[in-house]
Amino acid sequence: TYVAIHSTGFREFLLKPELLRAIADCGFEHPSEVQNECIPQAILGTDVLCQAKSGMGKTAVFVLAVLQQLQPVDGQVSCLVLCHTRELAYQICHEFDRFKKYLPGVKSGVFYGGVPMSENKEALQKEIPHIVIGTPGRILSLGEEKALDLSKLKYFILDECDRLLESLGMRKDVQKILRLTPHNKQVGMFSATLSEDIRTTCKKFMHNPLEIYINDGSKLTLHGLKQYYVKLSEKEKNRKLVDLLDALDFNQVVIFVKSVHRAAELNKILISCGFPSVAIHGGMKQEERIAKYKQFKEFKSRMIVATDIFGRGIDVERVNVVINYDMSDASDAYLHRVGRAGRFGTKGLAISFISSPEDGGILNDVQSRFVVSIPELPDEIDASTY
Ligand code: ADP
Ligand code: MG
Repeated sequence: TYVAIHSTGFREFLLKPELLRAIADCGFEHPSEVQNECIPQAILGTDVLCQAKSGMGKTAVFVLAVLQQLQPVDGQVSCLVLCHTRELAYQICHEFDRFKKYLPGVKSGVFYGGVPMSENKEALQKEIPHIVIGTPGRILSLGEEKALDLSKLKYFILDECDRLLESLGMRKDVQKILRLTPHNKQVGMFSATLSEDIRTTCKKFMHNPLEIYINDGSKLTLHGLKQYYVKLSEKEKNRKLVDLLDALDFNQVVIFVKSVHRAAELNKILISCGFPSVAIHGGMKQEERIAKYKQFKEFKSRMIVATDIFGRGIDVERVNVVINYDMSDASDAYLHRVGRAGRFGTKGLAISFISSPEDGGILNDVQSRFVVSIPELPDEIDASTY
């Protein structure tokens, strides 16, 4: 008989029984590659710098590592998770909730811009969460105004860290937040994309990190994802989109556009054509954005028109089709966008509209960088392939 030498269950990590129970409740049977590589070291307090393709379960790496180690002290924030969008903050908070359901003493809270500061302050006066998740701007404001005390922090996580450190504005905020935290703490940084430059920047914030790069560079292709392009002119896009939406067998679809204005307008057009479309973009009020996101996540809507704020990190299980109505402006952004389909090894389909030489250039970048060939969309696609 066959004897498995490398047993690959979550049990091997020797996590707390409360966590193992929650993991079982989530239906996770085996750890993914990134979880296998990172969790054993992360739960020992090692700093972790991790790149692994989207949909492979990076969130659970830091959520489990933090919950395993955290010893809640009332009135003290022990863990801070920073991410670049409010939806992602909300999603990460939800992930903590799932895994800490048998750890009733551990409290988490989420804080982001777009809601009044006074609301955050009131919440913090009532109860200091042990785990705080938020976007840099708001966390910094709360920290600077002394509503949030980060001086006892033990775990500091940056999700989509390249996004947080690339733009000078956000990086400045992150640096200022770091100054409010103690020297001795565990730092974890995660992304699907990490250029050499950014890796160097990341490491400046860490001590001897474990560096895990899974599917390094060119091997970032998304298994199970079918990718195609359609060459057309700008004015042909609406007709083509409507035809595709009629023809494709989608569970949930995300349609990416390049601006807030185009998101709102395209959404109106789709609704007028009888599609159950909703829009999500940075021009919306915060409550509305979260409401739309929830509606989609809970499968109450099946079609979302979005700008790139929805392009990273957001995990909606049932999305099997992504359409780049407007091609992304860089190969990184392409990868993050199409990564919304085919999560955790499930199948998916990505179709990109190419309407300018620039779009064509990006498509070529994507193909050479990720060593994939993206063919022209055929007349028919077998629905069982996505
Ligand atoms: P990433 O951050 O790497 O893009 P996520 O953390 O968002 O990926 O996880 C993608 C999806 O995979 C989520 O729905 C998550 O619940 C699921 N998932 C993560 N780890 C496992 C696992 N070991 N078994 C089954 N599903 C998992
Ligand atoms: Mg993620």
